[in-house]
Amino acid sequence: MEMKAIFFDLDNTLIDRQAAAYDIYSEMVSDLFPEWEKLSIEYETAVQRLMILDEYGTIGKDHVFGRFCKAYQLDESLVQILTDRWVQCFGDYTRPFKESASTLEKLSKKYRLGLLTNGYPHMQRRKVELSGCESYFEVIVVSGEHGIHKPDPRIFEIACEKMGIKPEEAYFVGDTFSTDILGAVRCGMKPIWLHSDSLLKTDMDIPRIYGIEELPDIL
Ligand SMILES: [Mg+2]
Repeated sequence: MEMKAIFFDLDNTLIDRQAAAYDIYSEMVSDLFPEWEKLSIEYETAVQRLMILDEYGTIGKDHVFGRFCKAYQLDESLVQILTDRWVQCFGDYTRPFKESASTLEKLSKKYRLGLLTNGYPHMQRRKVELSGCESYFEVIVVSGEHGIHKPDPRIFEIACEKMGIKPEEAYFVGDTFSTDILGAVRCGMKPIWLHSDSLLKTDMDIPRIYGIEELPDIL
């Protein structure tokens, strides 16, 4: 089968979502505890606690802030306030990986490129805008616009249909095994795992890269 296209995940694949999460959580902790000095041990403990609760963005923010406010005995009304702040502002914190645009530039000479990302429409669209990668994508699918999310194979199929190709003709590159890789396998796309966290394991035979810039060499 001739491979015609590559679809990408966005967060932690083309943009440094963890760095952005660290930035917004840090600001929240500063605002909640103005008496703490930045980078003091109690300050950093709170930020790291939020990062762990967040689990790479896979956990709903109401749950993250609910657990956090309980642990720090903060008023329950803050859960909604922090959740709203996250939803409204997180996109503005976007930081692209420095290799993303140049890698897409190379790949765009040989493949058609698309993006398939889970999340709220306005937030993900804002991230795309700030990613420096938008112009390379022929197709951009945000799961929240369809009410179907990775790993549901239907959202992968929607992306392929929009590009006018069959799933078997496309690679899918993403960092999250449970959504990107399993979803791509189920719908018949060829997955490539951006294995950025060595703590994650699988015995499945899935091609891996350790940085987005390695992609052109393995295709
Ligand atoms: Mg991701």
